Amino acid sequence: MYIPYGRQCLDEEDIEEVVKVLKSDYLTTGPKIREFEEKVEEYVGAKHAVAVCNGTAALHIAALAAGIREGDEVITTPITFAASANCVLYCGGTPVFADVDPETYNIDPAEIEKKITEHTKAIIPVHYTGQPCDMQKIHEIAKKHNLLVIEDAAHALGAAYHGEKIGGLSDMTCFSFHPVKPITTGEGGMVVTNDDELYKRLLLFRSHGITREEEFLTKNEGAWYYEQCLLGYNYRITDIGCALGCSQMKKLDGFIERRKEIAMRYNRAFEDVRGIKTPAQLEDVESGWHLYMIQVLGKDRKEVFDALRKEGIGVNVHYIPVYAHPYYREHGYAGEKCIHAEEFYARAISLPIFPAMTEEQQNYVIEKVKQYIN
Ligand SMILES: *Cc1c(COP(=O)(O)O)cnc(C)c1O
Repeated sequence: MYIPYGRQCLDEEDIEEVVKVLKSDYLTTGPKIREFEEKVEEYVGAKHAVAVCNGTAALHIAALAAGIREGDEVITTPITFAASANCVLYCGGTPVFADVDPETYNIDPAEIEKKITEHTKAIIPVHYTGQPCDMQKIHEIAKKHNLLVIEDAAHALGAAYHGEKIGGLSDMTCFSFHPVKPITTGEGGMVVTNDDELYKRLLLFRSHGITREEEFLTKNEGAWYYEQCLLGYNYRITDIGCALGCSQMKKLDGFIERRKEIAMRYNRAFEDVRGIKTPAQLEDVESGWHLYMIQVLGKDRKEVFDALRKEGIGVNVHYIPVYAHPYYREHGYAGEKCIHAEEFYARAISLPIFPAMTEEQQNYVIEKVKQYIN
């Protein structure tokens, strides 16, 4: 038995929906793309959605649409997947790391303020583990300093902040549909926005910068005619993936319910275990529980980690602080040190959590964790 830290949850209906597309006229640029976008728009309460081939591409076109370029600084968290910061580098900008809150492990708004300079252009908060960041404070800071907010919500489709779903709150919000994420399209991602101008730019960046829309053309030579008006990419997603996405959207609330159940059960199981710190939640937020992180106190994290892996438990560590990677160290971040991020990284272990995880599997994980912590 091997229990992964996360995995997709597919059923026969999902498979049938994909097969239907395989038998249809369009494998890509067909009707399923828009159908999937509409489903997510409606669910998160955003005006526009642009589906792309993965979450990293979503972050990239969001940063491009935001106009990030050389000389611009963008503030993000070090406790995230590298893509949250890489998207700034892709545009020639400079990621700036603000330390995390030691309780929620999300970016600390007070640390964001400290990092603002005249070059700061945007903030990329990451709803780490699925728990929304303190968006009220982040929006106050953004407003005060005239910054764009691009949420990295790769963990947080279905999560809610002050009663509102993540996705409709900021200038742009990016999702990922990788198999371990809240829902999957195989590979896939999406940017949602309420802004018409950003939406138009996102569409262009998704597909080579090419448009056929009459209003964007400088002239029109005929029905065949199109123009490339900026340097975009081919970041399109397939109809095959979007068919899966549409089907998965129906199950999202159930997935999150099940994830929450698992998280609450871990919380109860570890309540009285002195060597474990369980994850704290902000008030009035609903986490998507993408990850369940424990901190190992008073014991060597690596020893506990290795022992759990030997027992067939696919524990993981999310994440190595981004600035600590050799690429970042070699590109100006060698002296970087976010104290809370480092402390968290040194103690963190992610335990398995995914909708299809059985009670029996969870009991086994709990038993082994307690055994090696004590
Ligand atoms: C998964 C993830 C991404 C990237 O998504 P992909 O679909 O794998 O490209 C970006 N940010 C965070 C926080 C993620 O977890």
